[in-house]
Amino acid sequence: MHKTIFQFFHWYYPKGKLWKEVMEQARHLEWIGITDVWLPPPYKSSAGADGVGYDVYDLFDLGEFNQKGSFKTKYGTKKQFVDAVKALHRHNLGAMGDIVLNHKNGADETEKVNVIQVDYYDRNKVISEPFEKDVNTKYYFPGRNKKYSEFIWDFHAFTGIDECTNENEKCIYKIINGYGDLWDDVVGDEFGNFDYLLGADIEFRNPNVTAELKYWGKWFIQNCYIDSLRLDAVKHISPHFYKEWLDYLKETFQKEFFTVAEYWSSNVTYLHAYLDAMENRVQLFDVPLHQNFYEASKQGKDFSLPDIFNNTLVQTRSQSAVTFVDNHDTQPTQALESFVEYWFKPHANALILLRQEGIPCVFYPSYYGASYNVNGNEIQLAPVPNLYKMMMIRKHLFEGEQHDYFDHPNCISWFVAGTEQNRNAGFVVVLSNSDDGFKEMNLSGLNASRKFIDITGSFADAVVTNNDGAAIFPVKSRSISLWIKEEALDAVK
Ligand code: CA
Repeated sequence: MHKTIFQFFHWYYPKGKLWKEVMEQARHLEWIGITDVWLPPPYKSSAGADGVGYDVYDLFDLGEFNQKGSFKTKYGTKKQFVDAVKALHRHNLGAMGDIVLNHKNGADETEKVNVIQVDYYDRNKVISEPFEKDVNTKYYFPGRNKKYSEFIWDFHAFTGIDECTNENEKCIYKIINGYGDLWDDVVGDEFGNFDYLLGADIEFRNPNVTAELKYWGKWFIQNCYIDSLRLDAVKHISPHFYKEWLDYLKETFQKEFFTVAEYWSSNVTYLHAYLDAMENRVQLFDVPLHQNFYEASKQGKDFSLPDIFNNTLVQTRSQSAVTFVDNHDTQPTQALESFVEYWFKPHANALILLRQEGIPCVFYPSYYGASYNVNGNEIQLAPVPNLYKMMMIRKHLFEGEQHDYFDHPNCISWFVAGTEQNRNAGFVVVLSNSDDGFKEMNLSGLNASRKFIDITGSFADAVVTNNDGAAIFPVKSRSISLWIKEEALDAVK
């Protein structure tokens, strides 16, 4: 079974029903060949039931305590969350937990602490003398009342905050907390040091904090039956911490957790540096590939399709790559908006799902569609055409060697040959970003004299290979064709 991840949410997923929908869809996700379901952060957000979950208030409140104006999180109750995970397990699907440990939001009280201000654009540059400031760093979770953990977070547990006096100001204050001179060591050099992202930034050099986060990790996995992990915002977290944390979990549970980390950079050099720093304990989302998809979708016929994998993780270190087309951060009206244009989404999805390299991650709206309203803008995301068929090809027909014909700027193709044991397996993919095109391909003797059908429906006529296994496979303008053997048609129904 080829590993395939499904991101089962998007930023604007309607509130109150996600865990229920996971339960309802588990059977279908298994049917289309999904192996791992990435669920959104189930923790109580500083925005209560309105928060997507990346602004964590309390890691121990999974929709159980009356905090931030609600018992439930945006997605439902803790019981529903655990029931959703169990439903996934009944259908042989792994539950991927979203681990958000860079920062906290929504403190219970302020504290008077000593801070120094740093230059926003060069966080290594101190621009003030130490002074006292009231900051939001005290978390004791009165609504939970010490259940599961008695740990109280105060300024010793945080590196910095960005509470400006003037709302339009850009300011960052380093908290003088007794740990390290300035910021923690992170991979990359944006803003001099990008340890600080937002909110109250967690101090991993404090051993009480790391001990609490290990305890929490064990608690979360044990109580919610989590199978794999997605690490949020690792660009802003010391690799030293995550190595220690993952090693602790491995030892505790005597198992290796499949882990994919989000290092948001389209420069593959940084991704390599992070993987090296982590000694390959994690996989990374292939952000440079997403960026290439985005550029290709914007540039149309001016983008040279044979370059689509240039400078990506899947090209340079494929065993570490989790490939994706879009996610909750790139969707329209989000901070990192770089949504791949609709016409190119079938191309991009074929380039992740129907390739041997990389583990693909399918985005909820690509499969189910989505519609939402942001500040009066009506956004409609239609499902990607033929995505179901691509998933079924991946599940049932993905056998044999892969051969590429990346030899024309506007038309590329590849095939997977099938095997002696399964001669009906295999398929041909042809992509165009300009005019109607075609590709003459030789699928080898294994595929001699076979009849191929384009399951996208672009062509009514079959293509028949000659005695050597060669044939010409056409594609329509700016579209994709998926050719499979006539005898395999039932597999994609
Ligand atoms: Ca940080």
